[in-house]
Amino acid sequence: MTVTVVGGGLAGCEAAWALAERGIDVTIVEMRPVVRTAAHQTDRLGELVCSNSFKSVELQNAHGLLKAEIRDLGSVLLPLADEARVPGGAALAVDRDVFSQLVHAKINSHPRITVTRKEATSIPDAGVVATGPLTSSSLADAIKTRLGSDALAFFDAIAPIVSTESLDHDVLYAKSRWGKGEGDDYLNSPMNKEQYEGFMDALTAADQFHGHEFDDIAYFEGCLPVEEMAKRGRETARFGPMKPIGLHHPVSGLEPYAAVQLRREDKAAQMWNLVGFQTRLRIPEQAKVFRMIPGLEKAEFLRYGSIHRNSYINAPASLGPGLMVKDGAPVFFAGQLTGVEGYTESIATGLLAGINLARVLVGDEPLVPPATTMLGGLYRYLAEADPKHFQPMNANFGLLEPLPLDSPVPSSLGVTGTRHVDSPGESRRHLDRAPKGRVERKDEKKQLLVDRARADFASWRAAL
Ligand SMILES: Cc1cc2nc3c(=O)[nH]c(=O)nc-3n(C[C@H](O)[C@H](O)[C@H](O)COP(=O)(O)OP(=O)(O)OC[C@H]3O[C@@H](n4cnc5c(N)ncnc54)[C@H](O)[C@@H]3O)c2cc1C
Repeated sequence: MTVTVVGGGLAGCEAAWALAERGIDVTIVEMRPVVRTAAHQTDRLGELVCSNSFKSVELQNAHGLLKAEIRDLGSVLLPLADEARVPGGAALAVDRDVFSQLVHAKINSHPRITVTRKEATSIPDAGVVATGPLTSSSLADAIKTRLGSDALAFFDAIAPIVSTESLDHDVLYAKSRWGKGEGDDYLNSPMNKEQYEGFMDALTAADQFHGHEFDDIAYFEGCLPVEEMAKRGRETARFGPMKPIGLHHPVSGLEPYAAVQLRREDKAAQMWNLVGFQTRLRIPEQAKVFRMIPGLEKAEFLRYGSIHRNSYINAPASLGPGLMVKDGAPVFFAGQLTGVEGYTESIATGLLAGINLARVLVGDEPLVPPATTMLGGLYRYLAEADPKHFQPMNANFGLLEPLPLDSPVPSSLGVTGTRHVDSPGESRRHLDRAPKGRVERKDEKKQLLVDRARADFASWRAAL
């Protein structure tokens, strides 16, 4: 049997190799150069469209951890990135030309892989769809028909996400507008007039990212960048995402002058989304300006905001187990199209899709790693995020299953016994009592997460 991988980008190449290595014949259908995208420059497989960095290789970095996991799974592309590596500190930066030449040659060298150059306009009977953020419109139509008309979005308007432990919970208060829902679904940052005015000044003065020409977006009114809103008038944000109505403070009983709301992004409340704060500000500006929000002075950004053209599926609403279509056909989605964001994440989902398609073809169930691992956490987000607010996600530690409250500290850290690890919402109280400095404790927690992820990934892989 021959399966089809649609798209010869990072995810498609990784999926095709994983299938071919498991004895399955693969045809990669890649539309370049017959049909071009607005970003790719060559007809090579595995072309990087923008940055030349795959981000960190350090295990204590979410991208580094994800890399370690997919290396263990047999990624074909990461060793090629190593070969194409240029100096970049802790980042795996590559010479992009060398990298895509290596990928192109490697994929074409596999006796079970054939590459066909044409635009796919339908979903294959058996295969992987990995056509990325610039999926052609006729295939996009076919995807919408197959998965449902609301399944596909065409651009990201992403608001930043911050970690719960970096927030000042003495300043923020939990409350939904007018006490709706559970009554305390949101965290709110109250601002007085002076704070609001200062914040508006900083927001309107901050430097914003000017994207590629094809990236110019006619904003929907509902997705206006927060800085554009601020430029429209001093009060606009106070009648938009910073509306204080119904957010009376639980102690004073008063409504603040303005408020920023944070909505939880995951079940364990480790990640909080700044509601309505989609932005095109440059990353250093986001860090500077958004840390002016009361309670966010020390915010750790798990994901920065952005707005750019991107096709992605509402994966939690439209896909089944293992990112397979729900109708039971052996068709998987992979890469940026599934709602992951970034090179390494795209490679990772491509590899997982290839492995799982090979399993399904011989009658096995798709397998996904546990949510204590970075790949498992990323997968869980795609499978279980709230479909109403689904936005693309990059690898970050907030995706991982939280640590149990009392976790043994690894002896490698030179500390013995058990140590309390922050649980969502009680970080502030605990930090006040903690005998160690905040940075040291954060490093310890990360090390615990990394150690657990490495151990759990090894056990899971042994069962494959
Ligand atoms: C302008 C831009 C800049 C970006 N910058 C970065 C960055 O700096 N860092 C980062 O990590 N991520 C960046 N991304 C996201 C990046 O695209 C992904 O991380 C990664 O390339 C996604 O891999 P993929 O395999 O899913 O898609 P791609 O690598 O885009 O591969 C998809 C392939 O499918 C092909 N294709 C599309 N439609 C069809 C069709 N109908 N038939 C056949 N083939 C088709 C395309 O030609 C392409 O080769 C950027 C995206 C864009 C659009």
